[in-house]
Amino acid sequence: RVPTKFSNEPLTDFSREDNARKMRSAIEKVRGELGREYDLIIGGKRIKLAKKLQSVNPSNPTEVVGVFQEAGAAEVEPAMQAALKAFETWSRTSWEERANLLFRVANMLQERKFEFSAWMVFEVGKNWVEADADVAETIDFAYFYALEALRLSQAKTPIQLPGEVNTLKYIPLGVGAVIPPWNFPCAIMAGMTMASIVCGNTVVLKPSSDSPAIAAKFMELLEEAGLPDGVVNFCTGGGRSFGGNVVNHPKTRYIAFTGSKEVGLDIHEHAAKTQPGQVWIKRTILEMGGKDSIVVDADADFDAAVEGVAQAAFGFSGQKCSACSRAIVDERIYDRFIGALRERVAKITVGDTTKNPGMGPVINESSMKKILGYVEKAQQEGGRLILGGVRDEEAGPGYFIKPTIIADVAPNATISQEEIFGPVLAVMKCRDFEEGVKIANNTEFGLTGAVYTGTQDKLDYAAQEYFAGNLYLNRKCTGAMVGAHPFGGFNMSGTDSKAGGPDYLLLFTQAKSIAEKV
Ligand code: GLU
Repeated sequence: RVPTKFSNEPLTDFSREDNARKMRSAIEKVRGELGREYDLIIGGKRIKLAKKLQSVNPSNPTEVVGVFQEAGAAEVEPAMQAALKAFETWSRTSWEERANLLFRVANMLQERKFEFSAWMVFEVGKNWVEADADVAETIDFAYFYALEALRLSQAKTPIQLPGEVNTLKYIPLGVGAVIPPWNFPCAIMAGMTMASIVCGNTVVLKPSSDSPAIAAKFMELLEEAGLPDGVVNFCTGGGRSFGGNVVNHPKTRYIAFTGSKEVGLDIHEHAAKTQPGQVWIKRTILEMGGKDSIVVDADADFDAAVEGVAQAAFGFSGQKCSACSRAIVDERIYDRFIGALRERVAKITVGDTTKNPGMGPVINESSMKKILGYVEKAQQEGGRLILGGVRDEEAGPGYFIKPTIIADVAPNATISQEEIFGPVLAVMKCRDFEEGVKIANNTEFGLTGAVYTGTQDKLDYAAQEYFAGNLYLNRKCTGAMVGAHPFGGFNMSGTDSKAGGPDYLLLFTQAKSIAEKV
């Protein structure tokens, strides 16, 4: 299927028994493949190293999902050289051929949707709906960037001078370091990789050490789809020893990163330092944290607001940079809102995601400890614990935390300001809508945000004054759709790179203007 017009991949309805059956059988198939070893793939060659790293199931940490090679400083040069060599031919391959590779990837993923979802169920603890949305977004990125590439290949200068032929060409940058997160281990990893290669760049891909198996599966699929050797070099390994040294390498042309603010800023700083032999200014494409709020007005559709906050705060255990981590509620409905939200959130089931609960675990032990530390701190700073706040022992041996609501949080409290990346929602009071938006703007971030209000003037006010890269009016602040909601944030949330939008591929290219006298 090669579309000429983009449309979003439909989400799977798991209330239909045939779909649920397919998912269960994909889970059993993947269960049978757990624990395998995966090699580095550099220039098409399989490479084993003495040092290994393991990926485990956060629902059941004794279950090993896969064993991976741990690349370090010594693997940087071979990976870079393979990517540089492949760039010579791949950069000269036509836009059509490169776009066709992505169309094939999309088709193959459509065939293998359930299997890819199942890998995420095991490796990062996504429930079925969250995993399915991640694969659907990956398919969307493949189609969207392929079509965008074809559009870019037709670029024209706005003006033709008399006596000249004026041409505008978008050419690739070079070798990119792609450093994706574990929370959208398929979509964001594949999205940054596909945007890179469809423009003719070659890639050193260093997946997150919490989610290398999904990246390995995607790499296999790319190869099956006909990816030439060296165009993507699959290198699991150390963040600093491998990733850091790729960032520093003089031949790295750009870095595409999604992850924490700390790591993003560190990459930015290192990329800014010119290395001996470097002949360009490295480009950084950075998607970092968020501290996203939903403002609820007194005249809002109350039930819709409760539902939107619950979903945005606790979907995938709040481990999205788009997650609602602060509900800012008009004082006139504050107590009623907390009561209704408590009731709604208490119904969320927590458990092993192979069984498709409402919520799974958090990603690893250190994350769990950090999240519980924030809950403690919140209470020390005057927050009132409404629900949860502790590990969920009954849910299983994994890193389960009960969905947590903390009320009466001050706008400047630690949990109002720092990204938690877990199932913890701070609720705070505002006098009116305007003050609510003001509080929403009081962090160093600016990724997503939402308001619920029944008043058009207030929607207009939010559209003007609410400073977030992705603002949602009368709907939740997670679940950006490719094409409709180009995704990326302001301030410390990153470079506002707008993945899934019409400007995204420009970040992976440079424009060349050619004037021919005739
Ligand atoms: N694009 C995702 C959303 O809209 C969030 C991506 C992220 O967490 O990095 O929910």
